[in-house]
Amino acid sequence: MVRTPMKEARRAPGSEWLKNHPRLLEVAYIVSKRLIKLGYPLARKLAPRLAERTMVRSEELVKGYAFNCQMCGQCILHSTGMTCPMNCPKNLRNGPCGGVRANGHCEVIPEMPCVWVQAWERSQRMLIYADEIQVVQPPVNRALQGSSAWVNMLDGVDTRTPKGWQPVEQ
Ligand code: SF4
Repeated sequence: MVRTPMKEARRAPGSEWLKNHPRLLEVAYIVSKRLIKLGYPLARKLAPRLAERTMVRSEELVKGYAFNCQMCGQCILHSTGMTCPMNCPKNLRNGPCGGVRANGHCEVIPEMPCVWVQAWERSQRMLIYADEIQVVQPPVNRALQGSSAWVNMLDGVDTRTPKGWQPVEQ
C-alpha cells in the first residue's frame, strides 16, 4: 500500500469559497467516483504500483488544496458537508464536541470556526447527501493513514460504512 506522511493543515487561497459551495462539490464527487470506478481497475491491471501512487498523489494535491485533506484514507467528505473532519483539532468523526463556543468557533483554537458547525451547515445545502451527516461513523483506522481513500473504498479496505446503512445509488 502506498502511503504519505501526515501533513500540517493549511488554508489554500480559494478553498473556502469552494467549501462554501457544497452542491458544486457534491457534483464533483459523484463525477469523480464514476470516473475512478471505471478507470482505476484498468489502470491497476496495466501498472499496479504506478496507478496507486498516482491516486495517492492526486488526492494529496486535489483534496489537500480544497479540503486541507489529512490523508486519513477513509474519506467521509460527502457525509460531512464536504468539510474534512480531520481538521477538527480533536479529530472527531462524529462531532461536534461539547466545547463549541457561542460564536460557533473551536474550543481548542478560538480563532477557528468549528469544523462540525461548518459541516452541519454545509451538509444541509447538499441535494443528495444531506442526510448522511446523521450516519454514526466508526473511529478512524490509523492503519490507513497516508493511503488513498478512493483505492481503499474500491478495495473494500475502508469498512467505515455501518451495517444496515443503505448507500445513495448513483
Ligand atoms: S476525510 Fe480523510 S480522506 Fe477525506 S478529506 Fe478528510 S483527511 Fe482527507
